[in-house]
This record gives sequence, structure tokens and C-alpha cells, in this order.
Amino acid sequence: MANVVCLRCRECKREFPVEPGNVCDFCFGPLEVVYDYSAIKKIISREKIEAGPFNLWRYQDLLPVDAANAIDINAGFTPLIRSKGLAEYLGLKELYIKNDSVNPSYSFKDRVVAVASTKAIEFGFDTLACASTGNLACSVAAHAARAGVKSFVFIPHDLEKEKVVGAAVYGPTLIAVRGSYDDVNRVCSEVADQHHWAFVNINMRPFYSEGSKTLGYEVVEQLGWRIPDHAVVPAASGSLFVKIWKGLHELNQLDLAGDVKTKMHLVQAEGCSPIVQAYQSGVTHVKPTKPNTVAKSLGIGNPADGFYSLQVMKNSKGSAVSAPEDEIAEGMKLLAQTEGIFTETAGGVVISGLRKLVRDGRIKPDDCTVVYITGNGYKTHQVVEDVVNPIEIAPSIDAFEEALATRVGV
Ligand SMILES: *Cc1c(COP(=O)(O)O)cnc(C)c1O
Ligand SMILES: [Zn+2]
Repeated sequence: MANVVCLRCRECKREFPVEPGNVCDFCFGPLEVVYDYSAIKKIISREKIEAGPFNLWRYQDLLPVDAANAIDINAGFTPLIRSKGLAEYLGLKELYIKNDSVNPSYSFKDRVVAVASTKAIEFGFDTLACASTGNLACSVAAHAARAGVKSFVFIPHDLEKEKVVGAAVYGPTLIAVRGSYDDVNRVCSEVADQHHWAFVNINMRPFYSEGSKTLGYEVVEQLGWRIPDHAVVPAASGSLFVKIWKGLHELNQLDLAGDVKTKMHLVQAEGCSPIVQAYQSGVTHVKPTKPNTVAKSLGIGNPADGFYSLQVMKNSKGSAVSAPEDEIAEGMKLLAQTEGIFTETAGGVVISGLRKLVRDGRIKPDDCTVVYITGNGYKTHQVVEDVVNPIEIAPSIDAFEEALATRVGV
């Protein structure tokens, strides 16, 4: 916290005090946290990080909050798994799966909310709120419960039942808006002007988004402080994608890791792929679209960080690919059946995108590749319900042997 200097506008570079708010008063550009890296360099080391807690607070020197006040449900430090089955299937020698689906509320959103909710309580707010595509709702409600404060969670009315229940169980006030996520977000921006609440992804956004950097740090640490050749990342607003890149550069700047030569690949579902479309048509600004995808957690038609995502692709020599809607469930099954990891639709999007990147020769067999699996399959299980086809039998060994013989016969 002592390491934070100010907030700065990404566009006009004007500086602002560390206060709630997300846009520049002068040009409406997004605000970003600025750190004193020379001060951080004096206190940080690989050894200190490695001796830290087994959650995202091990990176507290690089986060804009005081970890002593942490609203802590133990987010982060999720497994990085060296792939065998999927790597073999794709012909890759060194593929890793960052399994962020096993966070406390079952998505990577626990990282961003851990930071945003801690900051909100530091600022003295007594109510947390959010505009959510689903996973954020679960995480905000969980963190509010942990902090002992109220929460207002705004969701699109047609969200998966599992995500609605997964949020409601923590006791928030749930508001289902008859519209798309972009409608939800617009309503919330107006509500945020009226009520003195901490909207984690609106007036807390500069702090919220910093939580995503830990997905960059962790992978590097878990690779033995090695920077991967490729990162394959799902995108909704594009914030996670941009912040992983920022995190890698911070490690390099602090001499904790070598040169950043990671090619950053962004993946979206075809039914909501405004950033991919901008990349493919070579423009620098993203044209909003109307989401129509089974990957609801990625259903943002007007992505706040679309412009910056395109810059990251350019600077990293990365790319963007979309997953056909009918390949998303297939991607979920492929990951489950080759690695034993059950991911939600966003993960199916990533696996489909990875396959395309390998097929197109952008990812080579010898490259060190990390794919980010950001959400849990139990939240979108209807999408793969056709796998359920049990052999039903009477409770006897004879019935079993008979069924087995019949099934084997087929
Ligand atoms: C929110 C979310 C993302 C990415 O969100 P950004 O807005 O791009 O930061 C990725 N995967 C899942 C499962 C999510 O819920
Ligand atoms: Zn500005």
C-alpha cells in the first residue's frame, strides 16, 4: 500500500489521488494504479514471495491494498498443471493448464474481488455491488459475506441457474435486469452515481483489475520463475488479458523474471467476439456487438479494455481467435476427458481457441504454452448434459454382468 503513488489516466496521463473512481475527469480515459517500483524493488524478492501465504496475498507488495486488512476467502495460488493427454492430442511438448476454476467461488473473479473488496472496506464503504455476467456475482456476494457487509448484485435475467444460486446462497440482494450484460452495466453506472456503494467493477475498477495481475505472477513463479512463450486467455471486457501482460512486465522490471517474450493470444466465443473481429479487420477500436453466446461469462458486447487488448496483441506479437459456438461444449469435454478438469463454457472457448492456434502454426510443438482455465464446469453443466448416459441395472451382480455383455456386444 505504501508502494502506491497515485491513480493515473491511461490516456492523458493526468494524476489523481487514490480514491474511488474509474475515469479521468478531463478526458474520460480509464484510471490505473501507479506504483513506486524502486521502493518495491528494495523489499521484494523471490524468496519473500515463496515464503508468503498460499493465496494471492503472497504478491501483496504488488497490490494496491494493505494485506493486513484483507477480505480473505483464500483466493489464488491455484494449480498449474503440466498437461499430458491434451498436449499429446495436440502434439505439444510443453503445455500447462492454469486451473483457476478451483478458486473459493469457482472462478478467477475471486482474485479481482479480493482486491476490490479489501480496498472498498479500506475506503469505508458499507456495501459492495457489481454488474455481473455471472461469476462476479458469486464472488462479490461471497466476499461481502466474509466482510460482514451488504451487497447488491446485478445480473442479466437469463443467467445460468447455477450462477444465480451460487451467488444467492451468500445472501446478497439480487437484481435481475431484463437485458444483456451491457444493459446491466449501464444501469449500474447510474445506480453508482446515486448510491454510495462500492461497485467492484465500476468505481473500484482500478483496484479490481489489479487483482488479475496475480494470474501472470503465479504462472511465472510456478514455472520456476520462467516466462512462458504463449499465454492463451479468455476475454470478456479484456481486463484479465491486459493485466496478465502488465504482471509479466512488472516481474521483469523488478528483476524477478527474465525478458517478456510471451505472445498473448485472446480468445472469445464466436457469438460475442467484438475484440477478435477488430483484430481480424485490423482496426484499433472495437465495435460493440450484441452478445449471443453459450459462453455467458464472456458475454460483454462493449468491452471496456478492448482497445488496450488490441495493443497488447500488437506489442506481444500475439493474436486473437474465436471459438465456434458448436465447439465450446466439445472443448469442455476434451479438457475433462484428457486432463480430468471440468471447466465451464469459457474454458471450452479457450480449448477450442488453443486447438486453432496449434492448427494454424502460431503455437509450435516445442513452445512453452499456458492456457488459462478461469471458471468451473459445475456452473454450466447443462451445456454438456448429453454425456449423461448411464447403464441402469437392477441391484444384482447378474444384472450387471448381463448389462455389461449387452453393452460390450454393442
Ligand atoms: C470474467 C471472466 C473472464 C474475463 O473477464 P475480463 O472482463 O476479460 O477480465 C474470463 N473467464 C471467466 C470464467 C470469467 O468469469
Ligand atoms: Zn485523462
